Amino acid sequence: MLDQKEFAALLQAAKRLECGFAGLPKLDSGEVPGMERLEEVLNATAERLKDNYPYFHPLYAGQMLKPPHPVARLAYALAMWLNPNNHALDGGRATSAMEKEAVGEIAGMFGWTSFLGHLCGSGTMANLEALWVSGQLHPGKKILASEQAHYTHSRISAVLQLPFEPIATDKFGRMDTDALAKRLERGDLGTVVVTMGTTATGSVDPLREILELRAKHGFRIHADAAYGGYFVLAENLERDARLALEQIGKVDSIVIDPHKHGLQPYGCGCVLFRDPGVGRLYKHDSPYTYFSSKELHLGEISLECSRPGASAAALWATQKLLPLRKGGEFARGLEQGRKAALALFEKLRADSRFVTAFPPELDILFFAPRADRVSESSALSRKLFEAAAKRNLHLAVAELPIHFWEENLSGMKRDRDKITCLRSVLMKPEHLEYVERIWELLSMAALEVFRGTDVKTKIEN
Ligand SMILES: *Cc1c(COP(=O)(O)O)cnc(C)c1O
Repeated sequence: MLDQKEFAALLQAAKRLECGFAGLPKLDSGEVPGMERLEEVLNATAERLKDNYPYFHPLYAGQMLKPPHPVARLAYALAMWLNPNNHALDGGRATSAMEKEAVGEIAGMFGWTSFLGHLCGSGTMANLEALWVSGQLHPGKKILASEQAHYTHSRISAVLQLPFEPIATDKFGRMDTDALAKRLERGDLGTVVVTMGTTATGSVDPLREILELRAKHGFRIHADAAYGGYFVLAENLERDARLALEQIGKVDSIVIDPHKHGLQPYGCGCVLFRDPGVGRLYKHDSPYTYFSSKELHLGEISLECSRPGASAAALWATQKLLPLRKGGEFARGLEQGRKAALALFEKLRADSRFVTAFPPELDILFFAPRADRVSESSALSRKLFEAAAKRNLHLAVAELPIHFWEENLSGMKRDRDKITCLRSVLMKPEHLEYVERIWELLSMAALEVFRGTDVKTKIEN
């Protein structure tokens, strides 16, 4: 986890940065007052931080947590010596330029060259901004998103006082286009949010079909690609996900989270608009923020005001080291996680102790223990989660509708309409080497959990 060489590289870069300010009168630095106390508090902080799951380790295979790339951590730390603010050029001249370049590279990944976009504090803030623009352009009109869309969309709609309506999902967890088409006949619609990789199962909404509906009915499309956006670079997707992601450049706005799959520290979301003209919606005339430049500042095209310039420095550095290219090292990392998810899914599918549903479209899989009833399976999922955690294998628990499983449930009594199941996000490239180890630990945990249930005989057979 810790690499001394990283600290050495940081020190060297920090000295170089310091040279940039050599012309200033010297500040009396001397001994940092209270260094001893500082060390004490820092150690106490380390003690407190121990109470975390090991997010950096491949045996952490639960929620969407991926360690930032070392260069992102270092560039962030380096920028923190200045702590620039990308609200305006006054606060972050260099990092504003870096943000524009880095965001341009992300937009380029979707085929956009002329666009409006910037970094945000998170996917939530980025989606808020996209739906705010939707609401400005279609005041009072409905926002539609699938039942599996991130819950943030209904909440943001409430904040913006825009009516929100969920659309049913099909058995692959994607927006059901028949249900959407039926809803469109009633009119009154402003924006359809398509989720390019749902948070729960990584399902990709059928964007091609939804674009056809747009041609007929006319509405805005916002792509929430917070999780799945980077998979436009992966070359090992199945047909449906690939065809949908290929169309992403045709939507009106896109959200992508560099702090999810883009190897960034938290605090890095991104929103992009295909029409740069939406910049006019942000107009304001603050008397105090913009003195030093006539150019359009990032602060003039962003709802958030203060934002960390360090985020931009980290993203810029990461993309310099790992350009967003098909076939490149960054893309290979995504492909490895997906391969890992497929490999683990196949093991689960072939094992009668578990029930699986559709295969992963990206790198997220889910499964449940087989039992006589859905309620029993749900209870076993929680036990399996605990039993795996005891063995240092960290999974996640999810509640998913039973229609995702369909015939796979076979004889299971459907006494609940949702199953509490296990979910695993294999988003680290190292997960690929760990599939066997993960499977071993999961099998051991299952052995413990199934002991004493009817399934025991099935294991022994
Ligand atoms: C994570 C996620 C969000 C929310 O983004 P944050 O960065 O956590 O605020 C929104 N939509 C989708 C599809 C997500 O996966």
